[in-house]
Amino acid sequence: MPGKSIHRLKDVLIGLEVHCQLTNLKTKLFCGCSTDYRRDPPNTHVCPVCLGIPGSLPTVNRKAIEDAVVVSLGLDSQVSKTSYFFRKNYYYPDMSKNFQISQYDRAGGIPISRGGGVEIQVNHAHRKIRITRLQLEEDPAKLVHLGPIDSSPYTLVDYNRAGVALLEIVTEPDLHSPTEARIFLQKLRSILEHLGVSDGRFEGSMRCDANISLSGGKRVEVKNISSFKEVERALNFEMTRQQSLLSRGSTVSMETRHWDEARRLTISLRSKEAEHDYRYFPEPDLVPIVVSEEWVKELASTLPELPDSRRDRLVSTYHIPVYDATVLTGVKALADFFEDCVALYSDAKAISNWVIGDLLRWLHEGDLGIDASKITPKALVGMITLIDEGVISGKIAKKVLPEIVRTGRPPREIVEEKDLLRMGSPKEIEGVVNHVFTENPKAVQDALADEKAIHYLVGQVMKATRGRADPELTNQIVKEKLEQLGALG
Ligand SMILES: [Zn+2]
Repeated sequence: MPGKSIHRLKDVLIGLEVHCQLTNLKTKLFCGCSTDYRRDPPNTHVCPVCLGIPGSLPTVNRKAIEDAVVVSLGLDSQVSKTSYFFRKNYYYPDMSKNFQISQYDRAGGIPISRGGGVEIQVNHAHRKIRITRLQLEEDPAKLVHLGPIDSSPYTLVDYNRAGVALLEIVTEPDLHSPTEARIFLQKLRSILEHLGVSDGRFEGSMRCDANISLSGGKRVEVKNISSFKEVERALNFEMTRQQSLLSRGSTVSMETRHWDEARRLTISLRSKEAEHDYRYFPEPDLVPIVVSEEWVKELASTLPELPDSRRDRLVSTYHIPVYDATVLTGVKALADFFEDCVALYSDAKAISNWVIGDLLRWLHEGDLGIDASKITPKALVGMITLIDEGVISGKIAKKVLPEIVRTGRPPREIVEEKDLLRMGSPKEIEGVVNHVFTENPKAVQDALADEKAIHYLVGQVMKATRGRADPELTNQIVKEKLEQLGALG
């Protein structure tokens, strides 16, 4: 289709395969190796099972099944009474036994659950993104390349990650833009955080493969998207690449591409293998997974509050706008922080303004999560109380906040140390006003001639006191002094 370069949103179809490590588990999916490997040297959390040594036998981590059921319930997916582990055969150093124990939805395979969805909000409209299936599988090892994958002289393998329980969440191609993909993933992450099964703060704990196709082209799979942040970037690149091929009359062929995070582009890895290349068959070393109705009921009865109902509760309990509540519940830790603050201070809207406004901005600036920052609910409430008491102005508070985020120190201590206490004594302000009048004789003449020019003088006083002078009082003192001068003149 030469000349067709502009694709409408609905012409772009994106489906995601999200891989979430079940980070609340202490041990791997099929062996007793510890999952707390991130700070340890490579290949120190391994055993014959997760190294795939012949003769070793896997046993299933019961808690992993429980987590998978809990997530299924949270996403409204239908839990299978019986499901099976399958072998996905492939030859690659990240899986030393030459197959991955996974699940499959064909050839007699049944995944842990099917169906369900996640509601997202795009430009004020609610949309449901359908879930195809959830499946449990083991995480492959981590490959470490020197520089870009296509020019690295060697590859190192770290098996610490091999065998960690992964939950793969597959969506229907219901997403129509890279932005929607990001919104979906944020929502999904918040749901998993609320369910307490997967913590996105752990490096590499949530990864993603994406399928993207434009009308007139074939489906391309983009692999190696290592974080949710990269998803939008990778999809934008891929969408533009496909658009430009199609607009020149070229074809987009079915293939697998690798997202190169450093160079911010996708590179062709291989033409997409067909499913039969994996020779899926049932894992003979494991029994079927049987989930009884009673077990599902029991887990359903302990299901925690999820982001949507929490949003509604925040609105009805604290009378904050839906927008505020949506932003707050987008990250569990943020909503927790808000509720901890409200327990200490009754003006919920004031808290919400600070949290979703300045606080979020400083957290983004430092690329920090609320729980990685040092700020405590007590410190934020302490700062707001200083404003209420007239000790500092709102303007000064905005200066103090980043310091609290960084150090967690009590706001009063920061204010005193940096000499930011509000200057409320008329005598003190008068001294500064006198000084400003002496330094700016021309501005004084202007203000005498035109009352509007008074702002300049007030501004100079604020500047000299670094914003500490009470603005109303300053205004009043400057006016009085001008009147005196006027009367003399
Ligand atoms: Zn092991």
